[in-house]
Amino acid sequence: MTQNSAGWRLALQLALAAVLLATLVWPRVERYFLQDAAAQNRVTLRLVSDGLRAALDRYAPLPHLIAARPELARVLRNPDDPLLVETVNSILLNTAISVTASDVYLMDMDGMTLAASSYRKERSFVGRNFSFRPYFTQAAAGGLGRYFALGTTSGERGYFFAAPVRDGPRILGVVAVKFTVEAFEAGWQAASSNILVTDPTGIVFIASEPAWRLRASVPLTPRALSVIRANQQYPVERLTLLDIARRVEAGVDLTVIDGTEYIASSGDALASAGWTVTALRRAAPARLQAGMVFAAIALLVVLAICVASYLRHRAAQRVQVHRMLEQRVEERTSALRFEVEERRRTEEKLRRTQAGLVQAGKLSALGQMSAALSHEFNQPLQAVKAYAENARTFLDRGETDEVRDNIGRISRMADRMAAISRHLRNFARRPGEAIGPVPLNLVIDDALAVSAPKLKAGGVTLDYSPAAGTPWVIGGHVRLQQVLVNLISNAVDAMGGAGRLTLAAAPHDGGWRVTVRDEGPGLPEGAAEQMFDPFFTTKPMGQGLGLGLSISYNIVRDFGGTLWGEDHPEGGAVFGVDLAAADAPAQEAAE
Ligand code: ADP
Repeated sequence: MTQNSAGWRLALQLALAAVLLATLVWPRVERYFLQDAAAQNRVTLRLVSDGLRAALDRYAPLPHLIAARPELARVLRNPDDPLLVETVNSILLNTAISVTASDVYLMDMDGMTLAASSYRKERSFVGRNFSFRPYFTQAAAGGLGRYFALGTTSGERGYFFAAPVRDGPRILGVVAVKFTVEAFEAGWQAASSNILVTDPTGIVFIASEPAWRLRASVPLTPRALSVIRANQQYPVERLTLLDIARRVEAGVDLTVIDGTEYIASSGDALASAGWTVTALRRAAPARLQAGMVFAAIALLVVLAICVASYLRHRAAQRVQVHRMLEQRVEERTSALRFEVEERRRTEEKLRRTQAGLVQAGKLSALGQMSAALSHEFNQPLQAVKAYAENARTFLDRGETDEVRDNIGRISRMADRMAAISRHLRNFARRPGEAIGPVPLNLVIDDALAVSAPKLKAGGVTLDYSPAAGTPWVIGGHVRLQQVLVNLISNAVDAMGGAGRLTLAAAPHDGGWRVTVRDEGPGLPEGAAEQMFDPFFTTKPMGQGLGLGLSISYNIVRDFGGTLWGEDHPEGGAVFGVDLAAADAPAQEAAE
């Protein structure tokens, strides 16, 4: 995967996550928090409704109880008795204090107030007529009057309960108890929701928010307005329409009042009074909470995607590096395989070349030795001829003993020539032999036999000290013989006429060492470094090919041994072959 496609993939995943977050997650989160707020709001609504209902239920029977006091009927019968009026005034004041009513007052059947708890106050109800109030008419008709209105005298919003004052079946007047609603509103200030109570016409008459009080929550019909005006329930000029809009979102009722959004829960739990209580909880905190939770979720999702992408990228990189390494290893391996194959081929070629060189070296040695060989063969042949002719003469004379003696000599000569010939054949043959234990002294004897003519021709004295016992070394019989023949031949060449060749075999470093020392001039200048190289020779054209030491060197190396050469401290050169010792083969050892 390329860097670019990884980038695109990440961008695509983020875009997809954004779409899913916006279409699936956000609506759910928002719904959750709005509904949670709505549930809390409903709890507030129930508490407020229960409180209001309890208060109303407590106040409703009061007018009846007050109306039962005999003083009230008495003053209604004698409205001009100042003493009686005074008594009733104080009764009403005490009652108002004890039941925490804002006003308690007594009206005659015309609606005129005869006595009131507010009798001492500046704005006393005494002398005022409330016949226009529905609660009066309801009570005057014998029922329980209940009504909500803005007090015309006090200017306070209040709830009125009224009951008739009876004298037997006759109704003498009406006693009314008024409660203000400010106490409720004060209690609601601490609540987490705003409370709004509307009357059946839709007018807000109790509200925790002062600005909403006595406002219309719905447009008022002209008929409703005229009833309000007639009952002097509210000052009509104050009943302006609230800026209110309702809608449903995420299964939650939402109300916007004066630009502020609220979660609304309504219940007409106070049906007896015709009130609708609405709890309004600001939607903003719920939305903010939803927003924060959503932001956290979105952040986590984005983070998770980024981390996943990073990890994938890392893994891909690792795979790439791995593949690259594998490829490199593969390349290196095939290069090595090629190199190995190349080397194998080179070695094969070298081996073939070497074998060829060995052969060439041998043939060249043979060439060099041919002169000496022809002498070697000629001499016995002439001797054989001489012995044969002598034998014939002795035979003619009948000297049979002499004849036998001559024939014996001829036979020995033939044996000697056969031996030389056998050695030469061995030498010229391509070696197919394996490397293994060879008897060192025998190999040296064979080499000396092959070299004998050359030694003789070169006028060289041989000083040979064989190894004690019958040591076995690791090598090949014919090839080791060839090496020794080479060294002997070089030594004879170096001495160029006469001298002593010292040949010795002795234990060395756990193996065996054969040394060939001559009394020649020693190694020529620079030869020590190059004499084992092929075709290095200091001999005149036609006399040396420069292959002898090179071939010998490789042969000895094949045996796991070492061929070395240096100037001898007492003059001349000394060459040595160091070979590993071998155990005698079982058969030989037995012999
Ligand atoms: P070649 O005998 O055909 O020259 P060799 O590989 O046998 O090839 O010898 C390489 C050279 O090493 C010789 O030409 C000679 O210079 C030097 N060399 C070998 N043996 C001796 C020795 N015994 N004394 C001095 N020089 C030697």
